[in-house]
Amino acid sequence: MRTVEEHARVIAELLHPTPVALIPLAAADGLVLADDLVATIDLPPFENSAMDGYAVRSTDVTNLPVTLPVSQDIPAGRTDTEPLAAGTAARIMTGAPMPAGADVIVQVERTDGGAEQVRIDSAPAPGVHVRTRGEDVRSGAVVLRAGTVIGPQQIGVAAALGFAELSMRRPLRVLVLSTGSELVEPGKPLGPGQIYESNAPMLAAGMSAVGASVTVEHFVADDVDTLRAVLGRAAAEHDLVVTSGGVSAGAYEVVKDALTGHGIEFAKVAMQPGMPQGAGRFAVGADRSVPIVTLPGNPVSSYVSFEVFLRPAIRAAMGHPDITRPVVTAPLTTSIDSPAGKRQFRRGHLDTVAGSVAPWGGPGSHLLSWLAGADCMFIVPEDVDHLQAGDEVEVWLLT
Ligand code: AMP
Ligand code: MG
Repeated sequence: MRTVEEHARVIAELLHPTPVALIPLAAADGLVLADDLVATIDLPPFENSAMDGYAVRSTDVTNLPVTLPVSQDIPAGRTDTEPLAAGTAARIMTGAPMPAGADVIVQVERTDGGAEQVRIDSAPAPGVHVRTRGEDVRSGAVVLRAGTVIGPQQIGVAAALGFAELSMRRPLRVLVLSTGSELVEPGKPLGPGQIYESNAPMLAAGMSAVGASVTVEHFVADDVDTLRAVLGRAAAEHDLVVTSGGVSAGAYEVVKDALTGHGIEFAKVAMQPGMPQGAGRFAVGADRSVPIVTLPGNPVSSYVSFEVFLRPAIRAAMGHPDITRPVVTAPLTTSIDSPAGKRQFRRGHLDTVAGSVAPWGGPGSHLLSWLAGADCMFIVPEDVDHLQAGDEVEVWLLT
């Protein structure tokens, strides 16, 4: 049997870093910046008001209250502001450029709000409500480092600096392909002996969540020629094919039958769930091949295999600085058994107040509702077949 680490290495080596491309901001969320982002403008780009109010000279508001004529109106976006004449006020809005000569912003609440002339009752110190040019970012500064995972806030600053696209590792293009003649698409009627197909949408969501671009090919019948044909077509457009089902020990194991001897190695991995695994490169013509990872069909096995092997490999290929889930250790709430010689990945529920972890459902690899209710997985090592309540386990946080 292969160890978990050995199989993880096989899968990691199948994938190469995705190419760096200019990605539009709208598609940047969750991707990783490939080059430092250097500002080409100041932010703010010009000195402007942080308040709705009046721009005045500090020398004109030393004796208060005072009434000043309003010499101009400066809404945001105005570009033709006049210098502020001494002894006058400019009505100014938030974000509007400061007129030359003004050094104080009096908020509208400290005035009578007049349009022709304004009575100013009190005034803040110079500069208080003034946003100076470049106070947030100076042109030429590195704003985001290469390797930064881009999220909404990073998209915000990039947009504010005028970048429409960012240099990033593009998404890994994955085809998810479920096999099994018993499978029915959710939403359609279920016949005798049939079950709803759940692996492909689940795996696709897991991969999308780490930034991959996923195509789903549902329910390839358990037919070797059909499967090979689908893979041949897929190779041109995908960096990785992930199959589910058809790899265990029974007859009619379509994935095994179609891919054995075609560059895919099938192996038993010393883990529970998820023992039957496969990986390799499927040759398409003489000079091209596509990496394939074949996951077991049992839904929980499929998901756990994704967490253990694929999620880290996909994140690595897309340039993520940390590829694993956050890991903590916690004591078990109850005793459990685990098969000797296999690493067990159990669904768990972490009580963050008590700091303990409870098994969430049994080890059965068909128990999907328990997977759905779990917020973590915890690990029982290969050389352990029993744990007592209070024993510490390694916990992977899934949320
Ligand atoms: P297999 O690995 O194809 O022998 O499938 C093992 C078990 O998982 C069987 O009970 C299948 O019906 C079930 N299974 C396989 N693929 C899926 C899928 N995509 N969705 C839900 N159940 C599946
Ligand atoms: Mg099957």
